[in-house]
Amino acid sequence: MLGLMQDWPLTVDRIIDHARSWHGGIEVVSRSVEGPMVRTTYREIHGRAKQLSNALLSLGVLPGDRVATLAWNTGRHLEAWYGIMGIGAICHTLNPRLHADQLCYIINHARDKVIFTDLTFLPILMEHRAKLDCVEHLVVMTDEAHMPADYPAALCFETLLAQHGADCAWGGFDENTAAGLCYTSGTTGDPKGVLYSHRSNFLHTLGTMGADVLGISARDVVLPVVPMFHANAWGVAFSAPAAGAKLVMPGQHLDGASVHELIETEGVTFSAAVPTVWRMLLQHLRETGGQLSTLTRVVIGGSAVPEDMVRAFRDDYGVTVTHAWGMTETSPMGTQSSPNRAVAAMDAEEQLRYRLKQGRPPLMIDLKLVDDQEHVLPHDGQATGRLKVSGPFVVREYFREAERAILDADGFFDTGDVASIDDQGYIQITDRAKDVIKSGGEWISSIEIENLAAAHPKAAMTAVVAIPHAKWDERPLLLVQLKPDERADRSEFLQFLDGKIARWWMPDDVVFVDHIPLGATGKIDKKLIREQFKNHVVQPIAAGLSPEQPNAEEAPADAPGPFPAEAAEASPARASTLTMVALSGALMGAYLWRSFGPVRR
Ligand code: AMP
Repeated sequence: MLGLMQDWPLTVDRIIDHARSWHGGIEVVSRSVEGPMVRTTYREIHGRAKQLSNALLSLGVLPGDRVATLAWNTGRHLEAWYGIMGIGAICHTLNPRLHADQLCYIINHARDKVIFTDLTFLPILMEHRAKLDCVEHLVVMTDEAHMPADYPAALCFETLLAQHGADCAWGGFDENTAAGLCYTSGTTGDPKGVLYSHRSNFLHTLGTMGADVLGISARDVVLPVVPMFHANAWGVAFSAPAAGAKLVMPGQHLDGASVHELIETEGVTFSAAVPTVWRMLLQHLRETGGQLSTLTRVVIGGSAVPEDMVRAFRDDYGVTVTHAWGMTETSPMGTQSSPNRAVAAMDAEEQLRYRLKQGRPPLMIDLKLVDDQEHVLPHDGQATGRLKVSGPFVVREYFREAERAILDADGFFDTGDVASIDDQGYIQITDRAKDVIKSGGEWISSIEIENLAAAHPKAAMTAVVAIPHAKWDERPLLLVQLKPDERADRSEFLQFLDGKIARWWMPDDVVFVDHIPLGATGKIDKKLIREQFKNHVVQPIAAGLSPEQPNAEEAPADAPGPFPAEAAEASPARASTLTMVALSGALMGAYLWRSFGPVRR
């Protein structure tokens, strides 16, 4: 017998419909890519998203088509996000921090039909246009006044919207329809596409709204520093409008001074970001004597939260940190370290032991810890094993990789993380089985670097491992075993890699060793190497090759460090210099684009 309740498909257009109807006047404030602050409301975002849907329909976008965004967190990005999803097309968020080759691979693999881009990323699209064989339209997320003059190939976002009304029917399709696509490089091999459905996004939103998870309310002012292009801004672009919270969108400036200014001027109460962002904010506060007068809670995840960071927020600024773990494949929320009753009853120091763990799973996430023989391990806080996850917003298969089974017999997905689970149900990530390095919240493929370095004529074998780093959490270290009787210096290897990988992927140091250790199965024993080099002191490398030496002439997307502007501790003035560089690149590239693209304005 079926229940007799209304059939109300869980599609995400209902989230922004709700925000329009019941929180319509609540502000969405953005630091625009063009510079000024832009103030709008959920009501306006809703209307403009509908206009955008009509514009997409007029461009021939059909349900199931992929429409990409290459954009910072702004109100316009939110409009594109809901406008795309509302008509059953798929919003594919592209990560501009990836190397151009990876971006091209991802765009082609996804078969993106339209790309919405911020001005910032025009140069990179221009440069590589010839490699993109599926893109029919490029929309620049700006107004007519800021469209590069000599650039007839692209469409202007604001002009496009002005040509269309807000009368557009959203939804009306199955809640399992695909809504979003995000590629992860946190695996070995090519990036993998995670295809979210309306239902999975809706359930994830409900899950994250729980008091022990993000717990965003209608009283909050929310600053998602975590980008919409990486793991869906941890769902905040859904949960903030769902709750009716004021949204503050930081645009491209994520350095300490810019984030602090937004927090104070907009009265931010809640924010979410990776540790690198918070490190920059805390450093700025220390240098300037600044205070956090409205902020009460921050969620930190993406990498393990350092103890001194939790203490600094708690003791110096009265801000509560909750540590979160998750991944692109889990939409992304997996666990959060909010105290349960037992932990809340402990004194502050004892609580800290739990707050530093990655936390407990909310409803709709189930976890399992297994050893190499797939035996389930006890929750005793001691046994460590592979962490597996299951739930209605966890990946079932990767996009266009149906032939690759990624779930075990019980339907659990292997996260590639190594963890323990204690008797209170708190997980603690102790290691990573997957061969990738996380620097400033973004992935570096160790295998890709070591394969490239191994092609050096003097190399017998190479290995790349993560070493701890105070600012970026992890950085790559390259180990080289030279061929017999060969001699080389470090800069030779870095020079060899230069141009083949993004600048911020460049190893911090190169160490020559007699033998690269191999494990029992003949594979490089990375665990042993990581242990041996965990206290490695990086020796300065020749100027121009070190990833810590930013080159002002570089295009932002390829600056050394995954946070282009902030990597250079950018002041707004410096950041706008970078934008100018990007824009002049765009103008130079206009000719190229015209000659390649089927794109018209
Ligand atoms: P991504 O898919 O890029 O969001 O990366 C997900 C991966 O980041 C996880 O599988 C972990 O390896 C790592 N990660 C995320 N959050 C944490 C955390 N709080 N502590 C340690 N590692 C984390």
